[in-house]
Amino acid sequence: MHLPKAELHLHIEGTLEPELAFALAERNGVTLPYATTEELRAAYQFDDLQSFLDLYYALMAVLRTEDDFAELADAYLARAAAQGVRHAEIFFDPQAHTARGVPIGTVIEGLGRALERSEETHGVSTQLILCFLRDLSAESALGTLDAAKPYLHRISAVGLDSAEVGHPPAKFREVYEAATALGLRKVAHAGEEGPPEYIREALDILGVERVDHGLRCMEDPELVARLVADRVPLTLCPLSNVTLRTVDTLKDHPLPAMLAAGLHCTVNSDDPAYFGGYAGDNFDAVRDALALGPEQLRTLARNSFEAAFLDHDEERRARYLAEVEAYAFD
Ligand SMILES: [Zn+2]
Repeated sequence: MHLPKAELHLHIEGTLEPELAFALAERNGVTLPYATTEELRAAYQFDDLQSFLDLYYALMAVLRTEDDFAELADAYLARAAAQGVRHAEIFFDPQAHTARGVPIGTVIEGLGRALERSEETHGVSTQLILCFLRDLSAESALGTLDAAKPYLHRISAVGLDSAEVGHPPAKFREVYEAATALGLRKVAHAGEEGPPEYIREALDILGVERVDHGLRCMEDPELVARLVADRVPLTLCPLSNVTLRTVDTLKDHPLPAMLAAGLHCTVNSDDPAYFGGYAGDNFDAVRDALALGPEQLRTLARNSFEAAFLDHDEERRARYLAEVEAYAFD
């Protein structure tokens, strides 16, 4: 669906399509444990978050140089633009690369190169969000933020991702305080597989402005009331939820109930190369499976621009919102 929208929950490493993975593997002399792109695509079947993460980290071995990261981001931005994305706030996982010996500067400068020309090339404005891997230590997160200091001009926010259960937000209090002191905005994954309590911690202890996923707030009416009252945006990823079995089928997705409750929902693609679709595909999928009408879809698109970190450029936000209002559904 070409409805103008902002993508606020997108892991750039999760946009690695099998074709690009093989091309980069060949260029960098990396051997993948799959013979063909078909064989690799067939491996994109997951039982849960962990089984996905295992393949996801294995494939990252092909990303080595600035050019690789620039090519990855450029390929994503082209696909996103083709599906109506006008603004993208893009996550990256520096620790997944520094652990393999790729310097953080290579990652940020490579991504940054694609992002800074994105508006001209693809008509998509961008921001970059540095995510900490929550299954690693709080010390490692602090070291990562420290290593990113020379590149802060390219980074607008910090986030928290990867295996959620057993790694509550409170573990990262110190690094979020340090990020605040550096003037960075704050988001965190919470309530995807983890309990509603993790959403409260992300709000109260980390001070996040948006909650990534946040699906399990629906188990806690008091928390829902708070999220509605404070208009906290939730970055939902419907196709991801089905692939990782957070919900059984798309028809079971709580999105309609969440909208009816007045939650500030947005629809995003998470790791689109692995989960069967980009932002527009996710809009198409929820429209079809959940019978969302034009006004609900328009609300989701409007919500995405309202939740974007565009406070420094309200003129741009207003322009995007006007595009949403002007969009004609067929
Ligand atoms: Zn995510």
